[in-house]
Amino acid sequence: MAAVLVLVFGGVNVLRARAATLQCHQYALVQTMPSLVELWLRRFAASARAAHFVFSAGTLFGATTTWWGAGKARRTPHEGVDFGRYAPLIGSAGGGGGAGALRAAATAVVAVQPGCAVPCLCDGAVTCVIRDFICETLVVEHPQLSSRAGGRAGMVLCSLFAHVRAERRQGERVRAGERLCSVAPSPTSAPAHLHLSLAWLPHALLSEQLTWKALVTDARVDFVDPLAHVDSRLWTISDEGEGEGG
Ligand SMILES: [Zn+2]
Repeated sequence: MAAVLVLVFGGVNVLRARAATLQCHQYALVQTMPSLVELWLRRFAASARAAHFVFSAGTLFGATTTWWGAGKARRTPHEGVDFGRYAPLIGSAGGGGGAGALRAAATAVVAVQPGCAVPCLCDGAVTCVIRDFICETLVVEHPQLSSRAGGRAGMVLCSLFAHVRAERRQGERVRAGERLCSVAPSPTSAPAHLHLSLAWLPHALLSEQLTWKALVTDARVDFVDPLAHVDSRLWTISDEGEGEGG
């Protein structure tokens, strides 16, 4: 399995502070989600050959500005997290290895590349594939996870993988770790990246023609911070590199 470099980050304290703001119905998620998201993070890191992902302020849940260009105001607070940059794993063959290689991995940051495979977070079924401003968003519903997370009448927990090329179709059953999609090239000023959202979505909304406009305007939709409570060595927060990537 992929080696994981042990680095010291400040992100955990940020998350603990944010955890205090969670609403009551989200407490059940605390029991269920962190290990799931962490396992998914490890799988996605292996796919990208990342030692750890690097998040700047604009990439995080609830961000009010973009992280590319001049950092424009977002129309609505960020509904998930953006995986756009990472510190690459250093190959084990040659290169000197040892502590020098660890330092190199800790300082180099590169952009997530189009084509990078994205694994499924949790067993479920593909609800739909919708358009987004870069390419496609693949929506996966997780009825069993919804039950484990406490359940909410008329709602289902979903994972949404945005700015991707979907490789699975509506109605397909999917299992945790299976390849779902790949990061899409970006025809816009935003660099290619994976956006991950977790959300409680009303069944009634899923039965309609789902759009991102509906997702961000329907008051019943409840987005959850994917990184909340995830005590991981696989990500860090950095203010460096804002606006890069073009
Ligand atoms: Zn995003």
